[in-house]
Amino acid sequence: IPNEFKLALPILRKIEAAGYEAYFVGGSVRDTLLNRPIHDVDIATSAYPSEVKALFKRTVDTGIEHGTVMILDHGTGYEVTTFRTESGYQDYRRPDKVTFVRSLKEDLKRRDFTINALALSEDGQITDLFGGLADMKAKIIRAVGNPEERFNEDALRMMRAVRFASQLNFKIEPQTLSGIYDHSQLLKKIAVERIHTEFVKMMLGQDAQNGLTLMIKSHLYQYVPGFTSRLIELQKIANAPFDLKNEVQVWSLFTSNFRFQREQIALFLKNWKTANKIINDVILTTELIFQIKSQKVNNLNLYWAGRQNVLNAVDVLSRSLNANLDDLLRAYDRLPITDKRQLNITGGELIKQKILSPGPQLGKTLAELERAVVLGQVKNQRSALIAAAIALNKE
Ligand code: ATP
Ligand code: MG
Repeated sequence: IPNEFKLALPILRKIEAAGYEAYFVGGSVRDTLLNRPIHDVDIATSAYPSEVKALFKRTVDTGIEHGTVMILDHGTGYEVTTFRTESGYQDYRRPDKVTFVRSLKEDLKRRDFTINALALSEDGQITDLFGGLADMKAKIIRAVGNPEERFNEDALRMMRAVRFASQLNFKIEPQTLSGIYDHSQLLKKIAVERIHTEFVKMMLGQDAQNGLTLMIKSHLYQYVPGFTSRLIELQKIANAPFDLKNEVQVWSLFTSNFRFQREQIALFLKNWKTANKIINDVILTTELIFQIKSQKVNNLNLYWAGRQNVLNAVDVLSRSLNANLDDLLRAYDRLPITDKRQLNITGGELIKQKILSPGPQLGKTLAELERAVVLGQVKNQRSALIAAAIALNKE
């Protein structure tokens, strides 16, 4: 039993001592049974939110309208959620109404997949009402109940299915997969941010080729930003091995295969509601990938990309290109400078030496010096830099 559960046991015991039921549920139970590391421990209980709050000194109403109360204990927050059913998913996403119930069975029934519908009690007993343990053993993602209805209720579940297939290296059960195929267009109703989260997790999963193939097969790819008319490229990406380590690498794999220029990358990623910092890094990584592929990469390219993006480009290409990519990192680490603040001269000194006066020419000269030092044409030494600055401004 993982330590995370042990630490939370007193919470379960306290709720039970008050006469209610309490279980560990969700991803932590699934991942423990699969021998995978767990992050957050979720607890489900028959106690209503007000009843939970009455039992513990320190609680936070993190999602009280959905029945979730956070209990603060020895520096950790535990989400405790009242058993509930959901109804009236009129807009194909989140329910109009949640109803608190006293039965564990009702709560497990509303969960998405059988492997996510297991409950673990304080004494180590597992409640498995939908064959989740057998599906786990057979490595199958299967909707709880009727897949058609479940995807109609909440279309995000289709992305979650593909995400779990990739993360766990599972297959999607045929009826569940055909349910996704039949409802794929409902993904249009889901907020891009939520699709984004699932998509990136999917691409970072151990079996992402499988995940992407499933997105193509199920037609889900047609309803995410920028993929609709890219079937050929997507198939090509899905058919070549890759091993991505972060979000920048995920997007760079697509933008480089789509042969996107700067503006196209920015537009594509804005449509995915990607953070600006990530967009910048994807642009730098993608441009470096193009330069590496055309064997035109020089020190200046490495310098502008920055070490992390050199690593990103290398990781994106590592499984598909046979070039000696480690050399690129070594070349980066041999750069004379990696930041313009490392230049052994400042604008102020050039003014003091009366080589230049404040103005655009000063900035231009400093940029030239930076470039010359990176390319090894001028030594990063004060005297050499001053001489070069004089030469640059002679005419
Ligand atoms: P992760 O390891 O990524 O956190 P998880 O399975 O814990 O995976 P969460 O989003 O944290 O995913 O949700 C916790 C649990 O809540 C799930 O295991 C599942 O039982 C249920 N759940 C989450 N999202 C949905 C959904 N859209 N429809 C039905 N049940 C859901
Ligand atoms: Mg979770």
